[in-house]
Amino acid sequence: MRVRTLLTSLGVAIGLAAPVAQSGPWFGTPLPPPLNDPRQPVMKYDDGFAPLPAAFPHRPGRGDELLDGAALKKDHRRIVDFSLESLAAGDTVWGRRAATPSFMHTIEWTVNAFKAAGLENAAVETYPVPGTMWVPQSWRVQLVGDTAFGAGTETVTLQSAFPQPGGVTIPGGSLTAPVIFVGHGTDADLAGREVAGKIAVVHVRPEPSLFGSAEQGVAAKLASKGALGVVNAIEGPGNAQYIDPRFACGKAPCFIVGGQDAWFLQQVIGKAANAGVLDRLKMTLALASDETSNLRAANGVAIVRGQSARRLIINAHADGYFQGGDDNASGLAVLVGLARYFAKQPPPKHTLMFVASGGHHGPGNGPAALVAAHPELKDNTLLVINLEHVAYLDVVRGKTRAANNIGMVWETSVTESAKAVGVTNESPFLFDLWSRAPRCFGVATYQAAGPGVSGDLGGYRALNAPMTQMIQSGTFYHASGDVYEQVPAEGLERAARFHAYLVEQVDGAPEALVAAGKGTPYTSSLGECGSNGAVSRSSQR
Ligand SMILES: [Zn+2]
Ligand SMILES: [Zn+2]
Repeated sequence: MRVRTLLTSLGVAIGLAAPVAQSGPWFGTPLPPPLNDPRQPVMKYDDGFAPLPAAFPHRPGRGDELLDGAALKKDHRRIVDFSLESLAAGDTVWGRRAATPSFMHTIEWTVNAFKAAGLENAAVETYPVPGTMWVPQSWRVQLVGDTAFGAGTETVTLQSAFPQPGGVTIPGGSLTAPVIFVGHGTDADLAGREVAGKIAVVHVRPEPSLFGSAEQGVAAKLASKGALGVVNAIEGPGNAQYIDPRFACGKAPCFIVGGQDAWFLQQVIGKAANAGVLDRLKMTLALASDETSNLRAANGVAIVRGQSARRLIINAHADGYFQGGDDNASGLAVLVGLARYFAKQPPPKHTLMFVASGGHHGPGNGPAALVAAHPELKDNTLLVINLEHVAYLDVVRGKTRAANNIGMVWETSVTESAKAVGVTNESPFLFDLWSRAPRCFGVATYQAAGPGVSGDLGGYRALNAPMTQMIQSGTFYHASGDVYEQVPAEGLERAARFHAYLVEQVDGAPEALVAAGKGTPYTSSLGECGSNGAVSRSSQR
């Protein structure tokens, strides 16, 4: 028996010796690099091609300097540093994850900034988090070495592999199974493929991000068809980590690997198939995880008191994965800048409520907790404005092909990526204001706006108030590539100045204009862009 096995292996080895000996381990495929250092950007930035400038002259005595890019970027640095504190503390899912110390420190810092700026009723409002929080303890994703893939082929660890939410501890610590590639995981891709008992590899194209990716839900589908585990292989720059529940598969062990690990994995699968040894290609998945319970998260709130108790809520979620430079340190930095700015303005007509929310990434839902804790907001809120992912420097596909990655070499653009504008009640007046974002403030948006508002606003729906925002999700959405450097000071300033204008205009307008729904007759009385991008009405206040 033993002799026969030995002979069989020898036979295979001899049979393959000639082609693989020339190419080396793993069919001569260069091994993937380690994980990109998550403290450093994946992309290159070139000072010679800096972001499009933001040129807004200051109006004397108006506190315009509080909305300067440099001032906002200082707060942005501080907010991202709370994530790095979490990384240094050894959190596995690190960042500003709701209910964790780094998140609570972010909320406390924000409330202190509100207080220092002179806002009233500044408070950290904690709330109990229903359910539990998934916390992976340790994990490993490996391609198992086999001389059938070339002499000296040793087991390779894909270092960017990141477990996806919900995966439970694998009995015995790990599992090893054959690999099956399923393309994009559509029914057409799966035709004739048996995934049961195997580890399925899905090619995920984040177009333009995991938020919009067509492969959402594929991992869960594969697990339901009997796959023992799933590896989502990202078509993206560098070798970054990603986390997104839409790529999880319940309790089964599912992972996302970054672009360079994904490329290596797919190269090897293809070459093994060409060499007729695909049936020998196996992966090992290891995962240990935990659920923590009895958690508390928090919102940070403060007001600028107006002449009426009617509210205008300005919200930004404070939580985020990894550095969360755009998602959502960008929105939170603009929120704090606007709070400082409005504390220095003449009292508004309506009371401005600034909310740094516990967010929607979980655990818990900050806006829903806020609405429950503040019954006075119901039917008494004029508008909810959400600041989310407001200044992400666009990452685009370049013009040269990558040698160790999928597709083209990605490049950083000099413009922020375009954001989708949403106004839930489709108020013509609000759309008119939003049309000034690109024209007067240089904010990149889509050319059409609609009623859809994804992101953090869900918890506010119970207020029966119109809600509005601009939002995008880019290449590094929910990835370790969403870093401090990816958010330009100029973009923060554009976003902040437009939102200051938006708040001022809404506050000064007849309430009926804000509440008016789609199709209501409307004639614009807004002037042209002024020296600060502001139009005539705001300077009259
Ligand atoms: Zn997010
Ligand atoms: Zn977000």
